[in-house]
Amino acid sequence: MDFALTDDQREIQTLARDLARDEIEPHVADWDREHTFPRELYGKLAELGLMGVCVPEEYGGAGADFLSYVLVLEELSRADAGVGVTVAVHTSAATLPILMFGTDEQRSRFVPPLARGEAIGAFALTEPDSGSDAGSLRTKAEPDGDGWAISGRKQWITNGSLGGTIVLFARTDPDTPGSGGVSAFLVDSDQVETVSSGEKLGLHSSSTVDLVLDGVRVGADRLLHEERKGFSVAMATLDGGRIGIAAQALGIAQAAYELARSYALERRQFGQRIAEFQAIQWKLADMSTQIDAARLLVYRAAWLKQQGLPHTEEGAKAKLFASEVARRQTGEAIQVLGGYGYTREFPAERYYRDAKITEIYEGTSEIQRLVIARSVLGLGQRAMALK
Ligand SMILES: Cc1cc2nc3c(=O)[nH]c(=O)nc-3n(C[C@H](O)[C@H](O)[C@H](O)COP(=O)(O)OP(=O)(O)OC[C@H]3O[C@@H](n4cnc5c(N)ncnc54)[C@H](O)[C@@H]3O)c2cc1C
Repeated sequence: MDFALTDDQREIQTLARDLARDEIEPHVADWDREHTFPRELYGKLAELGLMGVCVPEEYGGAGADFLSYVLVLEELSRADAGVGVTVAVHTSAATLPILMFGTDEQRSRFVPPLARGEAIGAFALTEPDSGSDAGSLRTKAEPDGDGWAISGRKQWITNGSLGGTIVLFARTDPDTPGSGGVSAFLVDSDQVETVSSGEKLGLHSSSTVDLVLDGVRVGADRLLHEERKGFSVAMATLDGGRIGIAAQALGIAQAAYELARSYALERRQFGQRIAEFQAIQWKLADMSTQIDAARLLVYRAAWLKQQGLPHTEEGAKAKLFASEVARRQTGEAIQVLGGYGYTREFPAERYYRDAKITEIYEGTSEIQRLVIARSVLGLGQRAMALK
């Protein structure tokens, strides 16, 4: 076993860390308070190849491996989880499925603009009445000339209004209930009407919208993979995407831990630094241990994916564990900071708000447990849509 990062992986990690320190950290509190989507930041990320880290160079990407991409997500999320999710959805949930399932023509047409950050990718599966049970989705695509007309509503779509390509799921076979009647499409975001998804608890620097489609016409060349195979596109995408969300959770937890540690070494009560109280020491010891454990799960899942090995169970474990560590440890960070932690003077409260979503999107913790249980019990095929 080799736990060391390669020189290339360390280099890209440093690149992302430096960018986060210079271009994100000085602004993140304002973006959070004012709900600003920092559009210009993504041009800077693109210049450094960070909008297509693990996309092959022939398609406009940086040609790095999947673990390098995970390291980038961790660093970006350590500075701002909103930036982390924007890049995660753009890459894992939009660009990579086109690479994996697209025709040669679709790959060369859609991937380079995404990898160069000229277009932003989105993934539209969730609907108002279909969340975890994604196979029950109702958006429909009906044959229309030589293409399709798509109608329905998608809910809480990250990056859905940013101008780019949406990997969108719709039912093409009304006679097949459940996941078997679903197909995947590549839709231009400027073809789709967007409405507000309402105010979120956190992730205020990311953009989340509902999509309203009323007979949106797409050509036959916009079908991604085969007809009625959309659900396998969605599940394979989420298998990889979850590792990205696990990395996001890890980055948030790491930031909260670093804040708590440095505060504990400064803050004095009863004539000594609070880091000298065993109660605080144990919190920091638990944080550090659990974050280390989460990191090993996340990197292992990323390594399996990049070797082309099965990673459904390992990705689900990484996301389940890292997201629960993030939720718990961001709360502990507030505790270490006491009253100051509850105020906006320190970012602990932002970490706490941002961490919660990692237990929900790309499959809730309950759904991750189902995925893991099926795998360990050898129940095999996903009999139901486990999003
Ligand atoms: C900020 C944000 C961004 C998002 N971005 C995207 C995006 O880009 N694209 C996209 O398609 N979606 C996106 N989503 C949607 C997200 O993936 C869903 O919210 C998530 O999958 C859960 O679905 P739901 O909210 O409908 O919850 P539900 O499925 O209604 O679940 C409610 C509760 O029931 C539990 N539950 C459901 N089924 C089971 C079961 N079988 N066993 C045990 N417990 C169960 C759940 O775990 C949960 O606790 C986003 C959501 C948010 C809030």
